[in-house]
Amino acid sequence: MRGYILAISCLMVVALSTAFTAWVMESVINETFANKRTDLVWIICISIFVAFSLKGLASYGQAVALTKIGNAIVARYQKRLFNHLLALNLGYFSEARSARITATISQNVNGIRDTLNLTITSLARDALTFVALVGVMFSKDPLLSVIVFLAAPPMFIAMRIIARKIRVASRESVEYNAHVSGAMQEAIQGLPIVKAFTMESQLRGRVEHLVDTAERRANRIARLSERTAPLTESFAGAAIALVLGYAAYQSIYNGQLPGAFIAFITALLLAYDPARRLTKLQVQMERAYVNAKMIYDILDTPIPMRDVAEAKPLEVTAGKIEFRNVHFGYGADPILKGVSFVAQGGETTAFAGPSGAGKSTIINLIPRFYDPDQGQILIDGQDLRFVTKQSLREKLAYVSQAPVLFEGTVRDNIRYGRPDATDREIEDAARLAYAHEFILNLPLGYDTPVGENGANLSGGQKQRLSIARALVRNAPILLLDEATSALDNESEAAVQKAFENAMKGRTVVVIAHRLSTIAEADKIIVIEAGQIAEEGSHDMLAREEGGLYARLNRLQIRKDDISSMGTGQ
Ligand code: ADP
Repeated sequence: MRGYILAISCLMVVALSTAFTAWVMESVINETFANKRTDLVWIICISIFVAFSLKGLASYGQAVALTKIGNAIVARYQKRLFNHLLALNLGYFSEARSARITATISQNVNGIRDTLNLTITSLARDALTFVALVGVMFSKDPLLSVIVFLAAPPMFIAMRIIARKIRVASRESVEYNAHVSGAMQEAIQGLPIVKAFTMESQLRGRVEHLVDTAERRANRIARLSERTAPLTESFAGAAIALVLGYAAYQSIYNGQLPGAFIAFITALLLAYDPARRLTKLQVQMERAYVNAKMIYDILDTPIPMRDVAEAKPLEVTAGKIEFRNVHFGYGADPILKGVSFVAQGGETTAFAGPSGAGKSTIINLIPRFYDPDQGQILIDGQDLRFVTKQSLREKLAYVSQAPVLFEGTVRDNIRYGRPDATDREIEDAARLAYAHEFILNLPLGYDTPVGENGANLSGGQKQRLSIARALVRNAPILLLDEATSALDNESEAAVQKAFENAMKGRTVVVIAHRLSTIAEADKIIVIEAGQIAEEGSHDMLAREEGGLYARLNRLQIRKDDISSMGTGQ
């Protein structure tokens, strides 16, 4: 509010001092040159100097005040957008490409910033200045003023037509630019793949095509928005010529003093620049409108699965997880078709089965990344739909198949598991995760920043960091998606031991790819095509002739044999 008041007072000073310089021209001409009033000359001179200085100061004040307001609005949008993105469903992100989302956001936020900072700032000033100058014109010669402004309406109609075309081109331009930045970001992230598959020329072709299209769109916008110039220039030329002709006529034939005309023409000339920028307002607002619309498309994406009104915090006692006839599909296709099982508290339940059977989907339903279409999921007898998501997720620790590391140091990355963990707890967790040793060998130990995707760490090391993160959380339930990618034997052994430590004394639901994990589980559930095919202990299932598990088991043993032969063990 204070900012706006300051800005508006400054704007008024700018407008009035500009109008004053035009208004005073009558006295300059008539008193100085025609009437030769030496006593008034110095007053006129000083007042002009004061007017200009005031205008300078006020311009500074309003520019700073309005820019601050603009920046505050942009900052608020950035925060709102980020909060909203964090709250959105995982489904939103599986439909859109992340690199493109961020590129779209940054372009649109920058677009709004430019509009607020440049356009609105100058426009607010221009509008007031224009009004003040028009006031001067009317006070000096009302008839002439009316004639000049008769020409205005057709011009505004022309501007409207241009503005409409700009809207379409602006949206396309943002989309193409987002494609370009998205493609670039993805190529940089996947550089090893790009190089290994010699995809460079294909990618280059694609990105160049996008860049060219974006360039053409940008050119089209320029052509459209600059089309306003010939319109306004010829209008201004006609108006000024008309006024000059009329003034000359009045002066030559009616002997009128030229002061009032000079003041009128000065006001007209001074009003020309603000008027020109004002007519462009519509065109520029059109681009800002597109930016704002695209931002609101994101902000208006509903946040699904908010907690119900009567949601209570989850109370975990034994940590028993139960699925009752759960049906679920990401879209129309059903993926889980009536899954029921119990994962006993404090025990390890392992899911096995062919890829695409629905194992990860089952894990995804427990933290409520998605809700079942039918059926119930309960933890210690509490239906997950009626507990708060925050309390549910606080009771869970999750280790994903591909370890994810975030911006920050090694210590920060473990601490994401529990923000209030002490350094000591972090180191204890790292020890249990068999990560302490290698962390100490990093250049800055726990304070070593991890690169994007942890590029300076090995696969096994990243995995152990993500296990440490789960350990420090000290949650009663652990969800585990074992990595399928082969680690070297030493790493494999360390990761295995880390997992064993993490699993102690907790309810564990694990998607198992390793025989050792499966063999040690208290219960094995074999999933096939979204249904439970077999359930039982390792010994029991392995004996079942013709069973899916027995077959998978034999395959797995053979694979393990081969890999141990390969390394000479
Ligand atoms: P598994 O973990 O057993 O390999 P998943 O649970 O990952 O199997 O996948 C089960 C099925 O669900 C697959 O057919 C897969 O294509 C589909 N699926 C997985 N994630 C999504 C998703 N985000 N959107 C749509 N379909 C998905």
